[in-house]
Amino acid sequence: MELHNQSDISCSSAAENYLIEKMNEIKIFSPATVANVACGFDVLGFCLDSVGDDMVIRKTDKKGIHITRIEGFNLPYEAELNVAGVSALAMYDAIDVDFGFEIEIYKNIKPGSGIGSSAASAVGSVFGMNELLNRPFSKTQLTEFAIKGEALASKCEHADNLAPALFGGFTLVKSISPLRILEIPSPDDLYATIIHPQIEIKTSESRAILPKEVPLSEAIEQWANLGSLVHALHTSDYDLISNSLTDVIVEPHRGKLIPEFNAVKTAALKAGALGAGISGSGPSIFSLSKSSETAIKVKDAMESIYSKTGIAFEIHVSKINTNGVKIIN
Ligand code: ADP
Repeated sequence: MELHNQSDISCSSAAENYLIEKMNEIKIFSPATVANVACGFDVLGFCLDSVGDDMVIRKTDKKGIHITRIEGFNLPYEAELNVAGVSALAMYDAIDVDFGFEIEIYKNIKPGSGIGSSAASAVGSVFGMNELLNRPFSKTQLTEFAIKGEALASKCEHADNLAPALFGGFTLVKSISPLRILEIPSPDDLYATIIHPQIEIKTSESRAILPKEVPLSEAIEQWANLGSLVHALHTSDYDLISNSLTDVIVEPHRGKLIPEFNAVKTAALKAGALGAGISGSGPSIFSLSKSSETAIKVKDAMESIYSKTGIAFEIHVSKINTNGVKIIN
């Protein structure tokens, strides 16, 4: 296989290479992710363990990218209209092979949920193809392809959900051009609780309500919080994590789009959460806790608020997933 624009090559053992060369089909788990994480708007994200999509990627004699099955939600089969297809096509354009790929998507993450539904699809197709091709591309290069798919959903190029889905753990996207992703350690006892009200808020819509300019005093507070959150994650300083999980710029605007946002946040903090905020562009609300016991208490507290609203919701408790997208067969 010939690669176009190949820059850095990932390594795998000879035995692994042999096995992968024999493989024509791969089943993968592509995880849900939480972007922004309060003070890290558009740059910070983390990966979830217990929520995600399954996908099957298969080599086929027919050249090109073909989406052959979608279950769970009604999404387009045309590769150019589906984020999984767009990211796959970006990667397909960069290689020279005499075969094509089929993609099956078993979607569990509701599109527009704010926990990286589109990112899971964008990442899953390129990760699976890369495995079947014997891993010619690095994770950063895969993110470049996936960005093209994600742009279809959110109308702009960003990687704050893609990076944690590919790398696992917490990630910070330092820049998009050139793409630079930093992996940030996750303290061992850190758990997330996510409530997902079953209403749709489109990323493109929730971007439109944001101010174009922010006062300097708010910017200072925000970057102080982001810097201290990154430091706290490196040093497993749970008190500092708690003290840093504040968003003074985006949350005051987007919080209004989510029914009972303030009540859920207050209840989560009262139940012992380190902090809480909007997951991605909403409507999901995330919180972080020290220990699974506290994360479960936070779940009960969030549930008690939402069960009074009449709005259907899902709720997840998850350890931070430090591996990201993975093969499951
Ligand atoms: P999320 O934050 O959950 O990813 P977005 O608003 O960013 O939500 O993306 C959802 C939008 O992307 C929907 O309009 C959906 O129709 C479109 N879309 C296209 N392909 C996919 C896919 N494979 N998975 C999820 N959403 C997709």
